[in-house]
Amino acid sequence: MPKRIAIIGSTGSIGRQTLEVIRAFPRLFKVAALSCNENIDLLERQINEFKPVMVAVCNKSAAAVLKKRLTKKRDLKTKIFAGTESFKKIAGYHGTQKIVFASSGITALNALILAIKKRKQIALANKEMIVAAGGLIMNLARKCGVTIVPIDSEHSAIFQCLQGEDAADIEKIILTCSGGPFFGRTKEQLKKVTAADAVKHPAWNMGEKISVDSATLMNKGFEIIEAMHLFGLKESQIEVVIHQQCVVHSLVQFKDGSVKAQLAPPDMRLPITYALAWPQRIKAPWPRLDLKKIKELSFYPVDNAVFKGPALASAALKQGGNMPAALALANDKAVREFLGNKIGFHEIYPFIERELKKPRI
Ligand code: MG
Repeated sequence: MPKRIAIIGSTGSIGRQTLEVIRAFPRLFKVAALSCNENIDLLERQINEFKPVMVAVCNKSAAAVLKKRLTKKRDLKTKIFAGTESFKKIAGYHGTQKIVFASSGITALNALILAIKKRKQIALANKEMIVAAGGLIMNLARKCGVTIVPIDSEHSAIFQCLQGEDAADIEKIILTCSGGPFFGRTKEQLKKVTAADAVKHPAWNMGEKISVDSATLMNKGFEIIEAMHLFGLKESQIEVVIHQQCVVHSLVQFKDGSVKAQLAPPDMRLPITYALAWPQRIKAPWPRLDLKKIKELSFYPVDNAVFKGPALASAALKQGGNMPAALALANDKAVREFLGNKIGFHEIYPFIERELKKPRI
């Protein structure tokens, strides 16, 4: 019997790649439910191909248009739910075993909480929810006996390194970071870069927001917070190194000094396959690593004076409370301003710092 999968955020980059994985293993995985924010054109094509039992569309008017289109196809029996709360219909649906959280932002937080309470298997690609509510999510998961399998490549690497290990034996983890498209540039040079330059990531194929976050290294900052929660670590146990080849996806150093790493070509289909198949491994057709072709792997420290993402995240962690969530919100706003050409790349950090200083309720 194939494992029945639901995807929250099926039209985004991770959602589309998850469907690609499911398409490659029709005997192992079956789509039970899909959902998106508002891209109903793509969702309609996904419905036609995968025939889910139900879909949820966050934007209510987009959902109404989709409903009209689908009622014309009398053979299609897919149920449509509308609105933010509709993600909960997907999370609570008894016909799914595993739910992939691939949406961005915190819209799906209530759905994630419900899915944990219903003891669904969780594959988590979204990092904003962990940043904003990691303590609550992980406590609930522990209480319900639910393992959250990360899809983020670094956290998948650590999760894989920890199989068969005791988390209490971790001395520290080393998160690798591609450095983004602007690695090695000075503050002065960053004044001239455009939004188009920022969304061209050298190694990974990703959405716009996360590409900008990876250029500012804010993404790495959020990954520090994500790792803390997922693996129960202190901030002082997490190190970041620049590794441009994106082959070593992260490392774990244990208390006896031994270091384990996970390596693979940079291809999100692998961590997605791992998260879907977990606790098994399955034979997959994705590209293989050829170390003789790569020849060299390099590692550098982060230039914290130019790329402030990790430092901003560490500061937010030290201040505690809702500061990590406030940092995520401030960054969201800054990225929107930057992509809308309202501020330059070099103005992103000062914008975030100003936002964090504003009084909050
Ligand atoms: Mg990552």
